[in-house]
Amino acid sequence: MSIKTNILGEIVSGIVNDRIEIIDLSQLLNESTPVISLPEPFANTGGFKFLPISKYDEKGPNFYWNDFIAGEHCGTHFDAPIHWISGRDHDGVDTMPMKNMVGEACVINITKEVDENPDYCLTVEDIKRFEEEHGEITKHSWVLVYTGWSKYMGNHEKYFNVGEDGQPHTPGISKEASLFLSIERDILGVGVETVGTDAGIAGTFEPPFPNHHYMHKANKYGLAQLTNLEKLPPRGAVLIINPLKIENGSGSPIRAIALVEKE
Ligand code: MN
Repeated sequence: MSIKTNILGEIVSGIVNDRIEIIDLSQLLNESTPVISLPEPFANTGGFKFLPISKYDEKGPNFYWNDFIAGEHCGTHFDAPIHWISGRDHDGVDTMPMKNMVGEACVINITKEVDENPDYCLTVEDIKRFEEEHGEITKHSWVLVYTGWSKYMGNHEKYFNVGEDGQPHTPGISKEASLFLSIERDILGVGVETVGTDAGIAGTFEPPFPNHHYMHKANKYGLAQLTNLEKLPPRGAVLIINPLKIENGSGSPIRAIALVEKE
């Protein structure tokens, strides 16, 4: 006689009985939510706009509802491979495989390095150090780069950290680390706390914005403006992301959540 274990039932009862905690990795979406700001001559996103329709008033006495306008790349959001020219033949948000919306989160802590140098970019050595301690990053995992930068989210000046050179000084991922993760480890993608998955000064790198270039070239994803990464263990959390099914969409705001098993 075979005993069939009900895995999904165990997950649901774990959530109901608080043995599994659900961590909200998304920041609040409103008109002051920061969005990336590109220099001239590039066009920029309009961010998030809230347009009230009615609120128990003459326009709708029994109900409250709103419209909103939002950039695909606004607030906590998802970058699809077609976001970048190197990934133009790959998936958009409407065509990505559903199974890729769920995977283990590997959380690499570089908060010390970033405290000392806001331009710090995750290195292959950082990844190998993580793997020595926590085991090899498995295929179909997310790599979340924990920099601590989300603590600046309410303060635009600190969040963008524009220097006297006019450049934003925010952390990112080195070209070599992006290549290593996308090719050698075959991950789903990377997630960061800043407005984009590349460092603030990465427009000056070769190629420009190397993480976008190599991740999306390899049909991998990006997650930006995550928060609460300090609440995740280095391994074992299950990350769930849910981009809107925008036809030919290059990205989408998401409600990113992580399932964490309590000890
Ligand atoms: Mn983006």
